[in-house]
Amino acid sequence: MSNTRPPHPFQGPLPVAYGPDYALHTGLETVTKSRLVAEMIMAGEAGDVHLFPPQPATAAELRSIHDARYVDSILDGTADYAEFGRWSKEGLASVLATTGGMRDAVSEALRVGRSGSLSSGLHHARHRHGCGFCTFNGLALAALEALRHVDTVGILDLDAHFGGGTADILGDNPGVALADVSVSPFDRWNPVDHDRHRVALVEEAEDYLPTVSHSFGVLEGCDLLLYNAGMDTHEHAGGLAGITTDMIRERETLVVRWATERQIPVVFALAGGYRWGGLSLEDVARLHLETIRAFTT
Ligand SMILES: [Zn+2]
Repeated sequence: MSNTRPPHPFQGPLPVAYGPDYALHTGLETVTKSRLVAEMIMAGEAGDVHLFPPQPATAAELRSIHDARYVDSILDGTADYAEFGRWSKEGLASVLATTGGMRDAVSEALRVGRSGSLSSGLHHARHRHGCGFCTFNGLALAALEALRHVDTVGILDLDAHFGGGTADILGDNPGVALADVSVSPFDRWNPVDHDRHRVALVEEAEDYLPTVSHSFGVLEGCDLLLYNAGMDTHEHAGGLAGITTDMIRERETLVVRWATERQIPVVFALAGGYRWGGLSLEDVARLHLETIRAFTT
């Protein structure tokens, strides 16, 4: 298999998957905030970005990461998606678009070096069922897409919660390294291979960035990095006291610098970020712009 190396250094515009199906008009932040983020991008607040509509995930793709009966129950509406309301055509279109966006973002990153998708609600979805507002695991689909072109994929999950769904689907895959740093014990998983799995729960803000940096160790040598860039770690977005906007900004710089120094294509997903801690949804969307700004500079 060829180890694709994109042009270096990265030159914009940054391809970011987003389409009208992404955001639902009602429901949790997971399914409403991407529209706000897209509006801020279109207003030029995140640098040189090219928004493109992705192809929705197909049934065959979904069956490559999930149990076929689970996939079919979501597609035909006999089951509700994970915890964000009753089944609807609009909701189905949203999860198919945001899942497919991760796959198309991988193609773009292999072409130009960096990309992303305004997708949330991915990493808790496990093989047999959805979980924690995540219906389909777009990170897992993105990893399998990448493995069609490269030998190894790293997934860095810095959402406030662990990505137990991703570990459930990809934990046994020798081509995938998982680094998962959380500030909440929710969805914790047990590493089965310490050479390519790292799980850390941070309880003091001063430990956060050192722990993130340490987690990179397990990702060394990967050919492409998927970055689940949750903002729910922020002290006012559902996370840990002392994790400030400045700290988040530094975190995003650390991630992009790590990938850039190694000339590794890198793909972000928005992931978590909520109003639980007193921020408005606009504030949460603005936090997500920190990821995109780090990718465009
Ligand atoms: Zn989360």
